[in-house]
Amino acid sequence: MAKADPASLLTVDLGAIVANWRDLAARVAPARCAAVVKADGYGLGSVAVARALAKAGCRDFFVARLNEGLAVRDAVPEAARVTVLDGLMKGEAELYRRRNLTPSLNDPGQIEDWSAQAKAAGEKLAATLHFDTGMSRLGLTPKEGDALLADRAKLDGVALSYVMSHLVSSEEPNNPINAAQLAAFRKWRAAFPGVPASFANSSGIFLGPNYHFDVTRPGCALYGINPTPDRPNPMRGTAKLEARILQVREIDSPQTVGYGAMWKATRPTHVATIACGYADGWLRTFQGKGQAWLDGRSLPFIGRVSMDLITIDVTDAPMATQGKMVELLGPNLPVDDVAAAAGTIGYEILTRLGARFARTYIEP
Ligand SMILES: *Cc1c(COP(=O)(O)O)cnc(C)c1O
Repeated sequence: MAKADPASLLTVDLGAIVANWRDLAARVAPARCAAVVKADGYGLGSVAVARALAKAGCRDFFVARLNEGLAVRDAVPEAARVTVLDGLMKGEAELYRRRNLTPSLNDPGQIEDWSAQAKAAGEKLAATLHFDTGMSRLGLTPKEGDALLADRAKLDGVALSYVMSHLVSSEEPNNPINAAQLAAFRKWRAAFPGVPASFANSSGIFLGPNYHFDVTRPGCALYGINPTPDRPNPMRGTAKLEARILQVREIDSPQTVGYGAMWKATRPTHVATIACGYADGWLRTFQGKGQAWLDGRSLPFIGRVSMDLITIDVTDAPMATQGKMVELLGPNLPVDDVAAAAGTIGYEILTRLGARFARTYIEP
């Protein structure tokens, strides 16, 4: 029996992700370029992305959660570093050591636990030391940093892979907080001569070479989100989302469309219902603002976005017939534009991509 066509299809262009990584790597050379593949590779598949980037020469991967680190660890060579940003929680040290994962040490207790683990194992254990320079989320506070510098024996057994920090507003090049964080970070890194320093996320790379240090940590730019929101996007789009037209009907005034009767026909209208909804990550805030694309034509969302379905106005698009696939994200609908329509950022659109899509990966 022939395989049924999928109701919705996410196509991930691994070649475009690799091209974006190479582009960023060239911009930051001689600094190195890592890859942030947290949140399942910004929704596109951390294992597939990490594997493709490792093949292209990437040797540094960052994730948020320990379980993400375990998945990526199996996808990349043992010699590649996989750093877990969340920090070392109680009872996890042995698992980190056994699986060759590098913890980020974010507070004095984590430093103590990792140092104890190293001494017990009789070996040096790698870790990244995270200094908070303004985000006030994770990392050593300035006070904790000063205390550590006054008592370096606390780091016995720890082989520092990086000294790192994270920028607050790197997508705003004129925001003075960038320079303030840079100055604070310079002070911390100077206290650890010979240890590679890591500071810039995607947008940080575009703040210039002062921000590159030894290892950059781009995430969003790899996946095609514009790291320079005030300027044209230098990155390539990497994902295409298509949903099938399940049914088309004709309605006329005063009929309404969808839950809450939020949209009312004022003329004879052709309504197409497509197989995507908020359960797939297509947010309810698209109401009145979202669009689909078919054969060079924009098709506006009408009515509420529901769990499984979205309704679009195809009155002026006779080619929009049952079974056709419409584009929701892709060459005609770049992720940043899609996000703006929903009142959010590209990061949220990608990381909420649902589990119901058929997925196709285009190999580099
Ligand atoms: C998510 C994250 C990054 C990547 O940020 P982008 O803006 O997506 O490039 C880098 N560093 C840290 C610590 C992060 O949490």
